Amino acid sequence: MNSRFPKLIAFDLDYTLWPLWIDTHVGSSLKRDGDTLNEVHDIFGDKVSFYHDVAQILHQLRSAGVVIAACSRTTATDLAREALSLLLVPPKAGDASSTVMPAIKFFDQLEIHPGSKIAHFKQLHKKTGIPYSEMLFFDDEMRNKEVKSLGVTFQLVQQGLDNACFEKGVENWRAQHPEKVLDDAAKETLDTSL
Ligand SMILES: [Mg+2]
Repeated sequence: MNSRFPKLIAFDLDYTLWPLWIDTHVGSSLKRDGDTLNEVHDIFGDKVSFYHDVAQILHQLRSAGVVIAACSRTTATDLAREALSLLLVPPKAGDASSTVMPAIKFFDQLEIHPGSKIAHFKQLHKKTGIPYSEMLFFDDEMRNKEVKSLGVTFQLVQQGLDNACFEKGVENWRAQHPEKVLDDAAKETLDTSL
């Protein structure tokens, strides 16, 4: 099985990881009921939760050592961070040692600010040093595919992130960046040039 991932995978938030626009659908001041998993409420009782498959995808990437980024152009920057801090991600399936963690701990990088996502990715590149060819981005808005001009692989999310869409994105990245296998002739050239 091919388990090759890009070094960094970034996710949009609204309608990619959760089914709402955090700036217009959610009132300020979020609350979690005890240790309820994957669910917080705003002052009107409206719910914020990740789509069903998101938790295990985050676990898979974390285990694989992939740098995980959130990349959103919402104007509700603080509220988005608050939601990520409060949302509890269930443990990794089939791993008895896995514990409940706040969603924000899964994200190595947060780029949450309005404007073109080109700027978000330039920041990610600057902060991590990871080349754009090693970045894969999941987003539900077609306009954000402009990041492809940098060399980032873009995967459109049509009904929220699920396992099928995630696999499609990763396959898309693998197809665009085939594994470099050195044949004997190439190795010889490499040896003599050392
Ligand atoms: Mg979105």
